[in-house]
Amino acid sequence: MEQTSLTVQQFCQTIDMIYSCSDDYPYVYDFNNDFYYISPNAPKRLSMPRHCFRNVIDTFRSFVHPEDFEALQKDLEAVISGKKQSHNMQYRMLNTDSEPVWINCRGHVVSYDNETHYMVGCINEIGTRQKADNISGLLGESSLQSYLEEFSPFFPSGYLLRLGIDDFKGINERLGVKYGDHVLKKTAECISSCIQPGQQLYRLHADEFMVLDFLGDGLEHAINLYKNIRTAIDQFVEANQYEAVFTISGGILDSNSLEDFSFSDIMKLSEYSLNEAKRRGKNQCYLYVKQDYQTQLKRRQLKELLRHAVCNNFDGFEAYFQPLYSLETNTLYGAETLMRFHTKEFGTVSPNEFIPLLEETGLIIPLGRWILQQALFACNHIRQHIPNFQISVNVSSIQIMKSNIIHEILNSADEYGIPPSHIVIELTESGKLENSTHFTKVWSKLKSTGIRLALDDFGTGYSNFQYLNDLQPDIIKIDRSFTAKAMESTYEYNLLQLMSELVHNLDLKICIEGIETQEEKERMLTLNPDYSQGFYFGKPCPLLDFIEQFV
Ligand code: C2E
Ligand code: MG
Ligand code: MG
Repeated sequence: MEQTSLTVQQFCQTIDMIYSCSDDYPYVYDFNNDFYYISPNAPKRLSMPRHCFRNVIDTFRSFVHPEDFEALQKDLEAVISGKKQSHNMQYRMLNTDSEPVWINCRGHVVSYDNETHYMVGCINEIGTRQKADNISGLLGESSLQSYLEEFSPFFPSGYLLRLGIDDFKGINERLGVKYGDHVLKKTAECISSCIQPGQQLYRLHADEFMVLDFLGDGLEHAINLYKNIRTAIDQFVEANQYEAVFTISGGILDSNSLEDFSFSDIMKLSEYSLNEAKRRGKNQCYLYVKQDYQTQLKRRQLKELLRHAVCNNFDGFEAYFQPLYSLETNTLYGAETLMRFHTKEFGTVSPNEFIPLLEETGLIIPLGRWILQQALFACNHIRQHIPNFQISVNVSSIQIMKSNIIHEILNSADEYGIPPSHIVIELTESGKLENSTHFTKVWSKLKSTGIRLALDDFGTGYSNFQYLNDLQPDIIKIDRSFTAKAMESTYEYNLLQLMSELVHNLDLKICIEGIETQEEKERMLTLNPDYSQGFYFGKPCPLLDFIEQFV
């Protein structure tokens, strides 16, 4: 390019002519006169003294972030000395309130007669105004915001489809960032090839894109678009000879549900919807449902309450005890310890709701210790009246995997003077149990201490018979859902009968849970259970009530 045909002065005049048409700040830097001239808009936003000044590098020091100045100075010196022919740097300047503003400064050096003379370039803000993305060639989030704000608060009918590449981080890690950029570009092309005129496509941060349809199309249309995009991606993966194998997930929002929502609300909901699609297994789309979102918000709030309660000496937690009966003798032989969580916000929350959150957050470890203490304390009390009393404590497999559970149980048992044979550990979890050698090792070590082991929720999973062999429990607890079904269907009853026979043949004990009425008790007695539990015998209650009612 012929760069010498314009003088510094002519560049300054050009800047004066064009600055009002641009959000960016064009500049010229005259090395010979140590003179800098930039768009008059720049000092309105950035803390530079004027739009033209001398003593350039020293003046820059006053409005460049101190942490970035040294690198900038080095680069400018390399440019001035002719070592570099261009300048391209992202760094922070300070705005008129002395706050950092990310900018990208690019410039080309003009040299003639074997000497560098000046640099012409442009500064643009990148932090707040990521308008377009060079990799995908698409408009960015701030353009999406402007577009949405044109319509706010009443959006035309249609939908938003937020898309995200599944496990994109893995692609970058495995194949390098450059390859990752290639995948992003190709994904943008796949999406572009599926959308129709009038639909808008934007690149959000990282590996995410947003399709906006304000054309009155319904949710079926959104799902079809998602499926088409997925097919296009599959075709790219195949054509690319499986070098990078990846999938894409989508979150869909009905634009009619967005009335009165701010841009950040919309982004939050679309992010939630995409995350939900990923949480449900990826390579699928999820349609936003308000109730799901509220459940998720409640879960988040509950987690905070649980954390707070644990940090405040377990304030809000309470141990309840439910009687366990020996059916043969029709006498109380023990109790199951059940956790309760009382909150101001939600009243008493069910363990079915909060135990999974404790497991997710790891808080089950301190609470497991706490409930064990409550259980053994209670057992010690009750044993003064019923010496053979057995206490059951629920333990989740996470506690077995991640804490020194044997040590904790034996220490506490010692503290309260309770022989291990009076403790029953109930392994809760209807889903998959840990299939690891560590788990089986701890489990069989527990058994060898004399503690009795119960397999809880039996009949709710699908591979429970496998566990009978792997875990060799002492007691099998039949879940309430199974008991209830057996009361209604002969088939389920026969199944339960077979199961009971099998368990007895293996010389194990069986406990039937969830017996609520006399009729249920009579019917279940025909199965010859060893123990039973249910509201018919007694509901879970605090220790003092338990002692009053049953001891
Ligand atoms: P689970 O261990 O199977 O406990 C029995 C559940 O059935 C208890 O529910 C009990 O209140 C309920 N139940 C007992 N008899 C009847 C009946 O006749 N009818 C009906 N409808 N329900 C009956 P709860 O207390 O809500 O506990 C639910 C689950 O939460 C427990 O099931 C257990 O898996 C878990 N859980 C409770 N406390 C703890 C704990 O301290 N640690 C762990 N890891 N899990 C716990
Ligand atoms: Mg239990
Ligand atoms: Mg149970």
